[in-house]
Amino acid sequence: MTGTDTGTDALTSVEEHLNTVLAAVSPLSPLDLTLQDAHGCVLAEDVTATFPLPPFDNSAMDGYAVRASDLVAASESSPVTLPVVGDIAAGSTGPYTVQPGLCVRIMTGAPMPAGADAIVPLEWTDGGIAQVTIRRAAQPGVYVRGVGEDVQSGTVVLTAGTHLGATQIGLLAAVGRDRVAARPRPRVVVLSTGSELVDPGTPLTPGKIPDANSTLLTTAAREAGGTAFRVGIVPDDPRQLLDTLEDQLIRADAVVTSGGVSVGAFDVVKEALGRLGEVRFDRVAMQPGMPQAFGLIGPDHTPFFGLPGNPVSAYVSFEVFVRPALRRMLGVEPINRPTVRARLSEPLSSPPGKRSFARAHLAVDHGTYTVTPVGGSGSHLIASLAGANALVVVPEKTTELEAGATVTVMLLERRQA
Ligand code: AMP
Ligand code: MG
Repeated sequence: MTGTDTGTDALTSVEEHLNTVLAAVSPLSPLDLTLQDAHGCVLAEDVTATFPLPPFDNSAMDGYAVRASDLVAASESSPVTLPVVGDIAAGSTGPYTVQPGLCVRIMTGAPMPAGADAIVPLEWTDGGIAQVTIRRAAQPGVYVRGVGEDVQSGTVVLTAGTHLGATQIGLLAAVGRDRVAARPRPRVVVLSTGSELVDPGTPLTPGKIPDANSTLLTTAAREAGGTAFRVGIVPDDPRQLLDTLEDQLIRADAVVTSGGVSVGAFDVVKEALGRLGEVRFDRVAMQPGMPQAFGLIGPDHTPFFGLPGNPVSAYVSFEVFVRPALRRMLGVEPINRPTVRARLSEPLSSPPGKRSFARAHLAVDHGTYTVTPVGGSGSHLIASLAGANALVVVPEKTTELEAGATVTVMLLERRQA
């Protein structure tokens, strides 16, 4: 057994621990990323259009490119018929010219031929091939998409700091970029400690349980915007843990482990990393998730999070400390989950002196949020965790909440960053 935290030491507050974590992490340095890799990342340059959008005048409709002056007299009762002297498809490169009294058939997105100044949509005509009869006059410019009407050359289309979702990535492609400078996703190495653990899918033998945490934390890291690597299980052997960490550090911007951080015998993280000196083992005033390890390890001072082993504790610890750190590394704002105020549907109790995070289900009814705790407070109750979409945050000083009380609720939406 190691450590001095026998239960009587002062607890570290959630804020204090979070501040320690956030002070140790900063946004990752930008890299030149493909658009696919940049999705979900934060742009690190101002992107300027090097050509206009659209790049050339083109047709907004399938129809006919005409000279508006040839159709001044066209109407339902006296349509005008023009010879059709060619076809222009989208992607066509040939130089075309429309002489007075003539027209060409044209497709949406095809370049406007010289001489033409309007598009007559197919619907205003008889759809003729050799000649076409047109039943309406066309104003100059009608159904023509002008060069630069969307974006002028030289315009900054996205500024550094923009979070790149699908539509921003689409704009980058539209202005012809295949790569951009962006902050990469933090690479998160995840492993579970515990000699009782077996990989999910492996038949259970007495005393063994499936390793839930490494999969839980890997996917949570992905939802937070990281690129996560599930290393899997390391038994309660300090040497093996140190060897595994040494091997994994090369690809890690952060390391997350679960288990082995409390005061039991075989608390492997504490035994292995306690000797490094740069990892602190704290007792944080929260429920669940009291034992927490955090520090910087290896030659690159990689942030290390040693989370408690009970799956609910591990997950709540991830939400409260690891997720904000990963968001900070990604460079996105806000780093915290959104919170709402909601009406508690049933009484809730909470330990004194600790901030508790109660798994709950939040529903919205006629614009009012109602939140209902799910399951008990046991940190091993992963089934109720999976039914929760929110955490009720109960302040340290509050021990009892009545039904109907207004509480702060952290939303656990599952959207990927
Ligand atoms: P520890 O923090 O290592 O003392 O573990 C606390 C409890 O969580 C024990 O009951 C462990 O068996 C359980 N536990 C630890 N790691 C995992 C894991 N990866 N998946 C599921 N349960 C775990
Ligand atoms: Mg353990």
